[in-house]
Amino acid sequence: MSAAEELKAIEAEVAACTACKLHLSRKLVVPGAGSPQADIVFIGEAPGFHENEQGVPFVGAAGRFLDELLASIELQREDVFICNVVKCRPPGNRDPEPAEMEACSGFLNRQLACIHPTVIVTLGRFSMSRYFPRAKISGIHGQAKVIGGRMIVPMYHPAAALHQPSLRRTIEEDFLQLPAYIQQGKQMEIQASGPEDAPEQLSLF
Ligand code: SF4
Repeated sequence: MSAAEELKAIEAEVAACTACKLHLSRKLVVPGAGSPQADIVFIGEAPGFHENEQGVPFVGAAGRFLDELLASIELQREDVFICNVVKCRPPGNRDPEPAEMEACSGFLNRQLACIHPTVIVTLGRFSMSRYFPRAKISGIHGQAKVIGGRMIVPMYHPAAALHQPSLRRTIEEDFLQLPAYIQQGKQMEIQASGPEDAPEQLSLF
């Protein structure tokens, strides 16, 4: 099965999923969207109002800012893959609960396994906690680490800049580092080396 076929199969499973209580209040599932061959996967938090209506990740104001950020490094949505830690909207845009993230983690793990990106960018604290459980985003944003053979870059969620305009410049600067991280990731042959050959955790900066 190709990566595109595998992603489609995961989408179909997500659409039928009732593994956590978020299925009760969702309108549409938001499994993720983008290229099966993406060098970068962006992992956000959870679908919001507009995403729940359209079934597409990162629409609305935060999505428009993400599009601007991608354009700043000469990328479009079609070049990357964008998804969230949970695929259904938490009611009232509340935070996703640990049990919901755990229930949904298998879908995200499988998406990452079939895309096999060079770089994973976490957007916000919930996706960051998958890789940096005790870290604070203010202390590590924009700094890449190799974890389990894959380069992980934690960043602020684009929505944070909407609530706190002073963060906008910080997010923009962090984004501008991504092309260099992709280049480094490729040079390190992270994709080819596999987790067992790679250092467990290596700080690049
Ligand atoms: S959030 Fe994930 S685990 Fe929960 S119902 Fe939706 S797809 Fe299933």
